Amino acid sequence: MAAESEASWALVWEQLKVLFGVYAEGLGPSMSPLNVLATLALCLVLWLVWKPSKGFLAWVFPAKVYRTRSFLLDLWLFLLNWFVGLFTALNYAAIATVTAYALWGALGLPAPPPEARNPVLSALVIFLSGDMALYWFHRLHHGRPTLWAFHALHHSAEEMSPVTAYRHHPIYHILTGLFVSVAVGLCQGLAMVALIGRLDVAVLAGTNLFSALLNLATNNLKHSHIRLRFPGWLEHVLISPAQHQVHHSIDPKHFNRNYGDSLAIWDWMFGTLYISQPDEEIRFGLGDATGAPLPQRHPNLRTALAEPMGRARSILLRRDGRPKKGL
Ligand SMILES: [Zn+2]
Ligand SMILES: [Zn+2]
Repeated sequence: MAAESEASWALVWEQLKVLFGVYAEGLGPSMSPLNVLATLALCLVLWLVWKPSKGFLAWVFPAKVYRTRSFLLDLWLFLLNWFVGLFTALNYAAIATVTAYALWGALGLPAPPPEARNPVLSALVIFLSGDMALYWFHRLHHGRPTLWAFHALHHSAEEMSPVTAYRHHPIYHILTGLFVSVAVGLCQGLAMVALIGRLDVAVLAGTNLFSALLNLATNNLKHSHIRLRFPGWLEHVLISPAQHQVHHSIDPKHFNRNYGDSLAIWDWMFGTLYISQPDEEIRFGLGDATGAPLPQRHPNLRTALAEPMGRARSILLRRDGRPKKGL
């Protein structure tokens, strides 16, 4: 019995080392050299096809986006979250894997077969369950005022660049990483129980590969001024850059739409899908119920870090201060 659990923990450790290696090689973050090169190649193709009036560099890196306080704050938060990202890497890799194994052990499953029964199907199931967990956690951040206090920092960007993807409060970064990892781990564990029989390194690398391939060139454009739309049928399946830009719009008709990370099928399934429209003006930032822009809450790093904490604190205190029923 003891030898068996020792063996399974050794297996967990082996998986973690490989997973961390996969993460470190840059399959995860969209700023990896491969992703950046793929994005630039796609931009070149779009520039050649769309023939905008500006030169290539001025079109891809316009001053109205890259010489702004909004972009500067994105950069600061990118650097800060780069450190926090070490926790995120561990959250995603370690907590998800350990949760999956814990569930597997708790259900008293027999010893795994030497190889996954169907690595491609297994990787697909894990990818799908992980992407659905991301959808729901993102949706939760828009629905719960305390969580929104932190997520609003991501939405207060008035100009969007690929660095805006990292414009998150460290608390959001840590909590979301933690919650999503546990959810992903539970989904992985259930997927293993139902379909797989064992969690294989190749399966998990394959899962990353699914998301890396789906997002390789287009992910960086989700946070950008480049409005790349997909055909309507494809926007029911994959989130296009234009669809994520809709998610950042201050127009009330765009509120609470397109929560999906890689896939649009969850938005389609759960009633939050918005198909991008041609020639639709989109203004980024935080807006009120009438669509008027709200004053910038996060003009610099200090307010970006302090304001969400203060807002969340006052929401929690208000809740605690409410008279209890029956007293
Ligand atoms: Zn959001
Ligand atoms: Zn975003």
